[in-house]
Amino acid sequence: MSESYTGGCACGAIRYEISGEPLAMNDCQCRDCQRKSGTGHGSYLTFPRPRSEVKLRGQAALWDIVGDSGNVKTRGFCPTCGSPVHLTFTAMPELFTVHAASLDDPSRYKPQMVTYHVRGHGWDQLDPSVPTFDKMPPG
Ligand SMILES: [Zn+2]
Ligand SMILES: [Zn+2]
Repeated sequence: MSESYTGGCACGAIRYEISGEPLAMNDCQCRDCQRKSGTGHGSYLTFPRPRSEVKLRGQAALWDIVGDSGNVKTRGFCPTCGSPVHLTFTAMPELFTVHAASLDDPSRYKPQMVTYHVRGHGWDQLDPSVPTFDKMPPG
């Protein structure tokens, strides 16, 4: 049994605790992630946990966006400090995603792939040893 993943927003109003290991960890360079992060990409850990199984404290503000894939993503951010914290998917309620830098220990984030590399900018160079996909990996 590994240690739970804990974290939250910058001001501490939003906190989460997730047990188990992430299904996937990725850097995403799509336009949505650029706009929302304020820089070249977002970094995410996705857990095989429905929201109901995640211990959440505080009230995140939510907004929906339709991704390039056509899937509706609900982004949760702290209304006080503005930090993006979590992400859920209407079509995949069994998944719960958090932003890597929201972890109490961000070193637990180990990117396995870069998604939407086709949208990446020259000034946003990522680790060349991590596999990149133009969009999403096949399958
Ligand atoms: Zn906050
Ligand atoms: Zn993205």
